Formats: sequence, C-alpha cells, structure tokens
Amino acid sequence: MSFRPGMSCPICHRPILSDEARVSFPPFERNQKSVLFPLSGGTAHEACYQTWEERPAVEYRLAAHDEFDRREKVCAACGETISAREGYYTPAFLTEDKTNPLYLYNYVTLHWPHLEGWNDYAKFRQLVEQMQTAESWQSWNPVLPNTKYNMDPERQRGESSLWRKRQG
Ligand SMILES: [Zn+2]
Ligand SMILES: [Zn+2]
Repeated sequence: MSFRPGMSCPICHRPILSDEARVSFPPFERNQKSVLFPLSGGTAHEACYQTWEERPAVEYRLAAHDEFDRREKVCAACGETISAREGYYTPAFLTEDKTNPLYLYNYVTLHWPHLEGWNDYAKFRQLVEQMQTAESWQSWNPVLPNTKYNMDPERQRGESSLWRKRQG
C-alpha cells in the first residue's frame, strides 16, 4: 500500500501528515490476526515505530526477508540451484517459534514442478492446514495452493455474492 497523506498510523491510529517522518514496510505477514499484520505492506510514523514494543519482531522478519532475497535458491526436492528463469515456490516466513515443526520450512524453496513430489510434501501440507484452520489464523492468502484456510468472513461473503451474481 503506498503512502497517502492523512492515512492513519497503524500504531497510534492518528493521521500521518505529509511533513511527518514515516517508515514504510514491504508485505511480510499473511495472518490478519497477527499483531504485526497492520504494518505489513503499510506505513507508520517513524517515531511510533522506533518505540513500538513489537519493533524487534518486525526487524527480525525484515532481516529474514533480506537474507532470503540475497541467498542462492536451492530446490528442497531435487537439490539443484533454481535459476532466475525457472521461478520457484516458497511459503516465505511461517513462524519464529523454533519449537514449531514449521520453523524448518521458513523460506524453503522448490521448483514448482517438484513441489508435490517432494518427500516432505504430505507432512508440510498437513502442518500448513493445521496452522491455517486454527482460530489464531485468518487470511485471504493461503501458504500453499489448494489448502484449507480461514478467510476474513466479510471477504468470504463478498466472494460468495460475486459467485451468485456470476451464476445468475
Ligand atoms: Zn503513529
Ligand atoms: Zn527441483
């Protein structure tokens, strides 16, 4: 989301004026129930962000994202380096909890055609579905295509009325 003067700061909820120092973030969080979600792809007052209690968690995510951007991508299924031309699947960031079995799959990369044949695919898919169907999860953006997930109920209603319109 690009900055518009007057948009509200997700930390203090006051408008961000055009002469106020601000900081913008790339999208880094899918889960709308995460305390970090309002900053993902958003803009905040610089002063609010500097003193925000969740700032270390955001910095951790941004550092993980940068590291991923820079590193060579290797396919977890075939072990080959993935060329820029090939493209790849990644779930991006999943969890910072080292005791969560999904931690091992943060930023895993695979050639798209190798995803479903991957040795860990069934296990990974099950863990992803567990996370996405838990009460603590809500998103319109599933980690893995064709998996079950909790969507924003408003959006769900919107989509089903669109669907009815298309049908009728
Ligand atoms: Zn603010
Ligand atoms: Zn591969």
